[in-house]
Amino acid sequence: MHACGIGYDVHRFVEGRALVLGGVEIPYALGLDGHSDADVLCHAIADALLGAAGLADIGHFFPNTDESIRGLSSLEIIRQVCARLAEAGMTINNVDATVIAEAPKIAPHLAAMKAQLAGALGIPAERVGVKATTNEGMGFLGRGEGIAAMAVASVERA
Ligand code: MG
Repeated sequence: MHACGIGYDVHRFVEGRALVLGGVEIPYALGLDGHSDADVLCHAIADALLGAAGLADIGHFFPNTDESIRGLSSLEIIRQVCARLAEAGMTINNVDATVIAEAPKIAPHLAAMKAQLAGALGIPAERVGVKATTNEGMGFLGRGEGIAAMAVASVERA
């Protein structure tokens, strides 16, 4: 049976942290705040996969109260989610995602992000979509207070 899932995440900018998106460190004055590396794109994708699998959300499996996963690479979160899906006999068809950020410019990093994500997902890069847009200056994203990401995932379930 085919199934699809949706994921959304947002993290706020803070000083003194690296900005990691899709497993790629992007040079910028600010980073995203969070318990893990705060990779908002990976989190949206992980939630889309969990949703497609009919499982609980990322906060259930990776709670921000768990000190053992503080600073965890979110590519590792995706790997663990994929392992969970594989155990349940599910395979991933494709993943598509959009990053919403006023700054920095994401486009120069899309290819690298796609490659990192494909590696963690265990699927070819052509099955991974990553796009970027701004919020046209509107709202908290438009004011550059943080970055949001949304994702969909398509899986085959036994
Ligand atoms: Mg998150």
